[in-house]
Amino acid sequence: MSSRPSCYVVVVAAGKSTRMGGEKNKVFLPLLGLPVICHTLSAFEQSPCVDQVTLVASPGEMREMAALCSSFTKLRWLVPGGDSRPNSVQNGLNALPPDENAVVLVCDGARPLTTPALVQACFDSVLAHGSGVAAGEVVDTIKDISSGTPKTLRRETLRAVQTPQAFWLAELRQAYGALAQSGLPFTDDASLIEHMGKAVWLVESKQNNLKITLKDDLALAQALLCPGTPITGQGYDVHRLVAGRRLVLCGVEIPFELGLDGHSDADVAIHALMDAILGAACLGDIGRLFPDTDMRYKNADSMALLAEVLRRVQPLRVIHLDITIIAQRPKLLPHMPAMLARVQQAIPGARVNIKATTTEGLGFTGRGEGIAAQAVATLC
Ligand code: MG
Repeated sequence: MSSRPSCYVVVVAAGKSTRMGGEKNKVFLPLLGLPVICHTLSAFEQSPCVDQVTLVASPGEMREMAALCSSFTKLRWLVPGGDSRPNSVQNGLNALPPDENAVVLVCDGARPLTTPALVQACFDSVLAHGSGVAAGEVVDTIKDISSGTPKTLRRETLRAVQTPQAFWLAELRQAYGALAQSGLPFTDDASLIEHMGKAVWLVESKQNNLKITLKDDLALAQALLCPGTPITGQGYDVHRLVAGRRLVLCGVEIPFELGLDGHSDADVAIHALMDAILGAACLGDIGRLFPDTDMRYKNADSMALLAEVLRRVQPLRVIHLDITIIAQRPKLLPHMPAMLARVQQAIPGARVNIKATTTEGLGFTGRGEGIAAQAVATLC
C-alpha cells in the first residue's frame, strides 16, 4: 500500500486571453524561448509529490498543445475545455480515475512561475488541513466600489488568491458536480468549496507567482525568471566501459553487462553537466572541486556532487541544460524518461534536454570501449 495518496493535477489552459488583446492564446507565447504553458507544466513535472497531469486545452488548439507538451512524462490526459473556467476544470476532473483517496491540484496554465516548492506546500496542506490554496499578501490598497462610494478595505485582512489550489479529489468533484452548471460567477476552485459551506486553508505564496494576464506580464515574468544576463558553459567527459561496474547515467542505473570505471559512480553525463555549470560560473571544473585523490569521493553519488555544484554557483541558477550522451550500446532511449525526471528533480526550474547518439561504430565509443558525454548549461 502506498504511503501517501495519489496526486493529480488539472492545468487549465483553455482561456480566450481577451485581456492580452491578441489572437493567440497567451499560454503559447514565448517566455525565455519556451511557451508559457511549458514553464507551468515543468513545475509539476519536477514535483516529486505529483503523479499525473491533465491538461485542459481549447478544442481548436488540441493538436498544437499535444505537440508542444509531448516531452512531459507526467502529462497523461489532454482534454477539451468548456465555455467557462468551471466547465473546463470539470472536464479535467472527469478525465481523472475514480480514486476517492487522491489529492487534486488545479492550476492556471498561465502561471509560469509556479514552483515545485509551492506545489509541495499545497499538497502537504491537503494532508494536514483538507485543502491548500496558494495566496499572497495584497500590496495595493483595495477599495470596495459596490455602493457607488469607494470604501477602503483593511489591507492586512485581505489575501490575493492564486493557483495552484489543492483539495481532496472526491470533495472537489462533488463541488463541481453540484455547482459547475449553476451559472454562479466562480473565478477559482476554492469558491466552490466555500459555497458548499466548507472552510478552505490558505498556503502562503510569494507575489511573484504571477498569472500572465496583460501584455507587460510577460516581460515581468522574464525578469523574475532570469534577473541577469544569461551565461553559458560547456562540459565534456569520457569514462571507460569495464566489467564488474554499474552503469549509471543521469543518476539512473541502466542494466548492461558493462559499467563505467571511475573513482566516483562514473556518471559521465552528470560529470559533463557539472563541468558545464562550473564553466558558466567560472569556477573551474569538477577535477579541482572533487579530486579523485580524495577518499571522500570514492564511489560518490554524482547526483550528490551535482547538488554541491549547484550550491557553489549560487546565486546563479541553471535555467537550461542540454546533455548529449555518446554511446554505441546499450540503447538509451527506453531510459530517457527516467533520466530526464531525475535531472529535472535535481535542478528545479531548469529546462532540461537529454539526448543520446552513437558514432556509427567509429572511434572508441563506436568500438564500445567507453562512453562520452557533452553538456551545455545556461545560468542566470
Ligand atoms: Mg568523469
